Amino acid sequence: MNRLSNRIESIEESATLAMAAKAREYKSRGIDVINLSLGEPDFKTPAHICEAAKKAIDDGKYFAYPPVAGYQDLREAIAAKYQKENNVPYKAENIVVSNGAKQSIANVMFSLINPGDEVVVFSPYWVSYDAIVRLTEGKPVMVNGSIENDFKVTAAQLEKVIGPKTRAVIFSSPCNPTGSVFSKKELQDIAAVVLKHKDLLIIADEIYEHINFSGDQLSIASLPGMFDRTITVNGFAKGYAMTGWRVGYIAAPKWIADGANKMQGQLTSANSSISQRAAFAAITGDIAPTLKMVEEYRKRREIVYALLKEIPGVKANYPQGAFYFFPDVSSYFGKSDGQHTIKDSDDLCLYLLDKAHVSLVPGGAFGDPNCVRISYAASENDLKEALKRIKETLSGLKQNQAQRAVVA
Ligand code: GLU
Repeated sequence: MNRLSNRIESIEESATLAMAAKAREYKSRGIDVINLSLGEPDFKTPAHICEAAKKAIDDGKYFAYPPVAGYQDLREAIAAKYQKENNVPYKAENIVVSNGAKQSIANVMFSLINPGDEVVVFSPYWVSYDAIVRLTEGKPVMVNGSIENDFKVTAAQLEKVIGPKTRAVIFSSPCNPTGSVFSKKELQDIAAVVLKHKDLLIIADEIYEHINFSGDQLSIASLPGMFDRTITVNGFAKGYAMTGWRVGYIAAPKWIADGANKMQGQLTSANSSISQRAAFAAITGDIAPTLKMVEEYRKRREIVYALLKEIPGVKANYPQGAFYFFPDVSSYFGKSDGQHTIKDSDDLCLYLLDKAHVSLVPGGAFGDPNCVRISYAASENDLKEALKRIKETLSGLKQNQAQRAVVA
């Protein structure tokens, strides 16, 4: 009777959302949890964007179903942004606006992947890539970037895993969870590999485009020959502090945009009319509030990096974008406070939530079980306090007696 489909049984709950829910539950019990699990700006949506939404309600014109792919003016504005800022000649016909970039990715995967098709996922990866591919009954093929190479997968590594069933490659840059940013040269090398295989597509997730401290942002779709091979994913959540408004989009060759449009037409129809008016104000309006937020993130990156370096046994790369650290904490696995021995990163995250009242996300959900993800989209005070608590709690973990005996 109570039987869910194999499809839904085969995937896990989103780890980012699960840890955020746990943190909320602790908070509701009156526990002072610092939540560094969810990748969510702690800033409010800029005022001019909120004003546009209020005006849209008062105008009384935006109560009806919008076109499935989004309002024409919003799609034109997104295309114009890509022409001007990213050097990609998208037109409105290439754009589909969805309920967050997550739906954009799902629309694309369901439009392109047949059961058994392979999708190469650069790992560490954002949690939902893996689950969405499996929902389509495609097969995710993980390729691991090493911490020594700033977690970035190389073109040579990509080349090795491409086979006759490979349909697409997906990655994010700036990367969630590692903060790494691919350089122009690295993207050119990846593009060269993709172009060698005639049916291969690349899904480039640029949702953290604005939060990039490297000055090296480049859309792979702008490289020669790549327009026809790339699905660019982006959205308003991170750059404009609009997570709750749920506006993401793809920019893609028309046949893929048409597929995504058809998919969305059967599942959700268009994104909310009012959110789209807010997004239009965001993309055509003053970018100064975004730049201010980015400067704050940059400061916080320095603070967290310095504090992480003070914690013995924690190995962190220096992220170039997004708002995450993805440190290797595996030196604590097997250590004990006398009562509890840390098994792995899932266990360490639960331990830190319980003892330090800090919520992080285990690295396994992002493809690297040696790591944990720390979101620094939180206030400086919270970050300093959280890192202090983590350091103190970890300092109470020692190699346990049995292990010491083995080592001796
Ligand atoms: N993308 C954010 C994160 O990675 C939001 C949560 C989610 O949708 O996974 O934390």
